[in-house]
Amino acid sequence: MAFPLAKSWDVFIAGGGPAGLATAIAARGQGLSVIVADGALAPIDKPCGEGLLPNGVEALRKLGIEIPEGDAYPFRGVRFVDGSTKAEAEFPRGTAYGIRRTHLHRVMVDRAAACGVRMLWQAAVTGLHPEGALVAGELVRARWVVGADGTSSRVRSWAKLDERRGDARSGKNVRFAFRRHYRIAPWSEFMELHWGRECQVYVTPVGREEVCVSLISFDPKLRLREEEALEEFPELWSRLKNAKYASSERGAITVTRQLRRVYRDRTVLVGDASGGVDAITGEGLCLAFQQAALLAKCLAGGELARYQQTHRALLRRPTLMTRLMLFMARHRRARQRVMELFQSHPESFAALLAMHVGEGSARDHLSNGIAMGWELLKA
Ligand SMILES: Cc1cc2nc3c(=O)[nH]c(=O)nc-3n(C[C@H](O)[C@H](O)[C@H](O)COP(=O)(O)OP(=O)(O)OC[C@H]3O[C@@H](n4cnc5c(N)ncnc54)[C@H](O)[C@@H]3O)c2cc1C
Repeated sequence: MAFPLAKSWDVFIAGGGPAGLATAIAARGQGLSVIVADGALAPIDKPCGEGLLPNGVEALRKLGIEIPEGDAYPFRGVRFVDGSTKAEAEFPRGTAYGIRRTHLHRVMVDRAAACGVRMLWQAAVTGLHPEGALVAGELVRARWVVGADGTSSRVRSWAKLDERRGDARSGKNVRFAFRRHYRIAPWSEFMELHWGRECQVYVTPVGREEVCVSLISFDPKLRLREEEALEEFPELWSRLKNAKYASSERGAITVTRQLRRVYRDRTVLVGDASGGVDAITGEGLCLAFQQAALLAKCLAGGELARYQQTHRALLRRPTLMTRLMLFMARHRRARQRVMELFQSHPESFAALLAMHVGEGSARDHLSNGIAMGWELLKA
């Protein structure tokens, strides 16, 4: 593998998932030379709910990527279902898409190649080096090393960036997920989130004949597999039970984590490697794209302290949403009260969704927060 390794690069990126590729594309836009190494072979699949909310679509567009028609399925809002109580709202602006991870990855790889990013697949990063990073034990020289290697980032631990902010009890912030695709025409123009006793299931339309079903729980023993758990949701189960599988079930963990630092010397983290929010928010991809655009600018200007500061600000709203949704997941009575509020006052749910996708005024968020807080107190 001597060919790209002899050269010295501006940016070396460990991990060619959404965060790594988005950083690569944005860094090329800043005129930097970029090489990406990933241990897997493209197009890479990963357990994911596969929903790209309107702010994520917008962030992707800023990287020069349009979601191709036919590769994705548009949806216009979110529906919460808790037993017989339902609430739904449309996004205030823009369209969201359900898109298979392999399709998203292919589109991003194509864009990266067109931008002149050098990509190495089946090339595991095995360590950091004072002059760059090691790929399968060989040195790749680079001025900056970016860790985009996901939730269990090794770059993060090599660079001693594992220390968390705030609540250090990691077990509390880890959840367990399964994902499977079913061959069935989407029955709604909404992404659905079904609240159960011990888990949540969300359904994203990803094609004209396909939906992606993700199940998330606090259960570390993984007793809740998708089929058994779905029986708790009779309406959903009646739709899915006769549908054919379009993929095998795959598991993953989802971690809510804020790091004390996201860079040390010339190593810097992005995407899930740099901390993240629970999968239930559907925000991971959007955050990764926003962080990538920011990081590229900061690398070009050599301003990693600014990256860290703004990275923290970007995580604030999704972290708040995570707290709210995990509270609803844990406290059934409180959730029922909030769901009743959403059902009887749909504008309240619409305001929450607007906040979720970064729209609406601070005043709206405050008055809606007070109404929800009141219902929670009563519960
Ligand atoms: C069940 C579930 C549902 C989700 N649903 C949604 C959703 O609906 N919408 C949403 O926006 N987000 C969702 N997310 C979050 C989203 O999947 C992540 O935020 C997103 O994948 C982060 O991208 P990333 O590039 O940081 O990490 P990853 O996608 O994990 O990519 C990391 C890459 O690094 C590579 N790698 C790792 N180690 C090495 C190494 N040593 N050397 C080389 N390469 C390496 C891996 O092969 C991988 O390609 C969900 C997550 C889960 C678990």
